[in-house]
Amino acid sequence: MNKSGKNFNMYFVVIIGLLLLTVWIGTFQNQSDNYTKGELVSDLENNLVTAVTIHPNEGAPTGSIHVDFKNGEDRVLYVTDVTVIERLVQEYGIDPVVRDIPRESWFLTYMLPVMVVLIAGVFIFVLINSQNSSGNSGGKMMNFGKSRAKLSIGNGKVGLKDVAGLKEEKSELEEIIEFLREPAKFTRVGARIPKGVLLEGAPGTGKTLLAKAVAGEANVPFFSISGSDFVEMFVGVGASRVRDLFGEAKKNAPCIIFIDEIDAVARRRGTGMGGGHDEREQTLNQLLVEMDGFGVNEGIIVMAATNRVDILDPAILRPGRFDRKITVAPPDVGGREEILKVHSKNKPLSDDVNLEQVAQTTAGFTGADLENLLNEAAITAAMESRAFVKQEDIKKAFIKVGIGTEKRSRIISDKEKKITAYHEAGHAILFHVLPDVGPVYTVSIIPTGLGAAGYTMPLPERDEMFLTKGKMMQDIMVSLGGRIAEEIIFDDITTGASSDIKKATKEARRMVTRFGMSDSIGVVNYDDDGDEVFIGRDLAHARSHSEMVAGEIDREVKSIIDDCYKKAKDIILENEEVLHKCAELLLEKEKITRDEFEALFTKTEESGDLENSSFV
Ligand code: ADP
Ligand code: ZN
Repeated sequence: MNKSGKNFNMYFVVIIGLLLLTVWIGTFQNQSDNYTKGELVSDLENNLVTAVTIHPNEGAPTGSIHVDFKNGEDRVLYVTDVTVIERLVQEYGIDPVVRDIPRESWFLTYMLPVMVVLIAGVFIFVLINSQNSSGNSGGKMMNFGKSRAKLSIGNGKVGLKDVAGLKEEKSELEEIIEFLREPAKFTRVGARIPKGVLLEGAPGTGKTLLAKAVAGEANVPFFSISGSDFVEMFVGVGASRVRDLFGEAKKNAPCIIFIDEIDAVARRRGTGMGGGHDEREQTLNQLLVEMDGFGVNEGIIVMAATNRVDILDPAILRPGRFDRKITVAPPDVGGREEILKVHSKNKPLSDDVNLEQVAQTTAGFTGADLENLLNEAAITAAMESRAFVKQEDIKKAFIKVGIGTEKRSRIISDKEKKITAYHEAGHAILFHVLPDVGPVYTVSIIPTGLGAAGYTMPLPERDEMFLTKGKMMQDIMVSLGGRIAEEIIFDDITTGASSDIKKATKEARRMVTRFGMSDSIGVVNYDDDGDEVFIGRDLAHARSHSEMVAGEIDREVKSIIDDCYKKAKDIILENEEVLHKCAELLLEKEKITRDEFEALFTKTEESGDLENSSFV
């Protein structure tokens, strides 16, 4: 998370070193002027010397001789006996000036650079510290040279109140907090508290936040390290880091150790392609040894986060290790609203902002996405020198974070634009007509910056727990809609629909192989899970079904797609008038809203009451 923080100490040492080196070379330069007595003699003989100044050292016959030449140059000679030189130059008719070494020059040559270095050092140190603490709201950070874990003392800054939604997850962690606060309460009655808690969930769902909040609530130290920190280094380093980390934690118990991305270390052993990863295995073994090593109620709780619980080594989930698993789900509509409220606390919102509606339109957004959304909106407000955030800002941010920045500037040909308009109109009509999808939120033919020529965005009105066969069929139909519209209007078809087709095919395959939704295949799961990480294992394992079944699956997938294609085409043909109107409006305005789009249907009412027909 905070790589730069770890490197600061090293930078500090390097900078100080460089400064010292400069000073050293600086003081050395006079001495390195290796002018010799022999050279002096020859220069005197050649009559090149104009003046000689002798600086005898105090209390010793040694000293330095400053020689000025006719050509304006000057050199310094260090000698063991200044009187010898004095006599020598006098022989050549030069009367040397004898002068004590000026006292202040000693200060200038030695003390000043040292002081400069010290001041610079203090300055850099202060700078580093301020950077470190600003990077982490959880409190003061400390670097452990060895374990690379970051320690932050829970000072109540992050608490459960900062974690919006996630009610069940929070209540599951309640007892851990209680235990850290008052271990005696539990040991008294012989209760065993889990040593390890595994937080599973997609990135940005708030796993780190939860772990921090637990430490904050219990007011205990929080050691955090990322699994990838263990494995990026040389062999053997990972294991010793684990040892150091647990050693440090024991000294600070009760405390929390948080290991982010634990899958980087705890991936199932012996499954990688091309042999195992020695370093990772050693690290994992050490982790298991440490977890087994400390007593049940010693006051150390290890929390770990992953988004790939399926690839974890089962050893890690055994009792006495990570025996508590908490799934951190992406927020539902209520959760999203709460998260938006938490993150809009320090952002003045204008009266027209409706967070409930924002929550409704952001299905699938994680906490991190929502935080980002509000931040982008605030940036837009700031750019327009406003002191508050408007709903319009959030709308713009929505497009920006969801689909990439609208790129109005990119020049597209009229033909391209026309194709895109019909393509999106095709999607939009199906969204509107089919009962289980949509309604349409925005239709746009403004390129998104992520490679899409346009987009049609539905407004999800509820979070769905189950998908029905009918809904999945309708999703496929919507995906195919763009391509169908292109085909109806233009003789040619473009490559623009390839991702739509891919999406439709994937959905159809899931229906057949995972959900048992096809008659001839029946209720059997033939899904291979598509786990690329375990490609090695999957290749080694035989496919669980025969070639014959594979062929049957392909036929079923095709028949679903064909069926959807036909139904979708019928709908679009029946609404051809709307298709033209919608495309025309899009070409004119580039982007149309839900109201503008729905008005197209009321004007062409004669197309019948398709909206009530069933497609299940
Ligand atoms: P993860 O560790 O699951 O990848 P994080 O805990 O790092 O996710 O979350 C990233 C950011 O997203 C947090 O710092 C916070 O701002 C925001 N966030 C995520 N979930 C929530 C939530 N439930 N409540 C409030 N903010 C959240
Ligand atoms: Zn499309």
